[in-house]
Amino acid sequence: MSEQRGAGTDHGDQGGDVVAAWEALVATARRTVADGLVVGTSGNVSVRVGGTVLVTPSGVPYDRLTPDDVTGVDLDGRQVLGTLVPTSELPLHLAVYEATDARAVVHTHAVHATAVSTLVDELPLVHYMAAALGGPVRVAPYATYGSAELAANALRALDGRSGCLLRNHGTLTHGTDLDQAYDRTAQLEWMCRVWLTASSVPHLTPTLLTPAQLAEVTEKLRGYGQRG
Ligand code: 13P
Ligand code: ZN
Repeated sequence: MSEQRGAGTDHGDQGGDVVAAWEALVATARRTVADGLVVGTSGNVSVRVGGTVLVTPSGVPYDRLTPDDVTGVDLDGRQVLGTLVPTSELPLHLAVYEATDARAVVHTHAVHATAVSTLVDELPLVHYMAAALGGPVRVAPYATYGSAELAANALRALDGRSGCLLRNHGTLTHGTDLDQAYDRTAQLEWMCRVWLTASSVPHLTPTLLTPAQLAEVTEKLRGYGQRG
């Protein structure tokens, strides 16, 4: 039997977790296309299950992925599940797992976020939801897709944040699960759209929040939503 197995075969103690995580990963990757955050096979998604990182395969349309296509690497990037070539952005995803407590990472080429990445070094504080990403979202300097340099640039931009923009490229967010990582991407893209919309009005300049106003929201968001 081959060393690299599909989701339909035994994964030992983590078997059920891997199958469920792969299903959730594929659903999230499909959502990035359905919601217009990427076109075709652009972008990539990963989720960590113990010492294994499940990743979208490189260049495969997400609607073609089946349970047997499960693709996983260890934290050093060695392939431990599947035979499809893992995403070219493996260095980016692994760098995030090494440096943070993230359990999921989402990378997209969302239109407004990518546009903003070409204009500023930091997304201006047009909305308080920046607090949900840890503060003003930085733009990582450009480097070739899939490179270790891009991963290093992104890690610096992520310091104290759960998301950043990649110059002339797209978005990167992480979270405690796929839903949180995805939601942060959607919020980031929405904030970029707000800033572009407001700053496109001739003769007017958008008002911005102060760091103190953002700090107040950061505190308040801790109690946001339902009790418990
Ligand atoms: P992959 O198909 O290899 O994941 O690449 C897409 C991408 O967005 C590279 O930055
Ligand atoms: Zn990309």
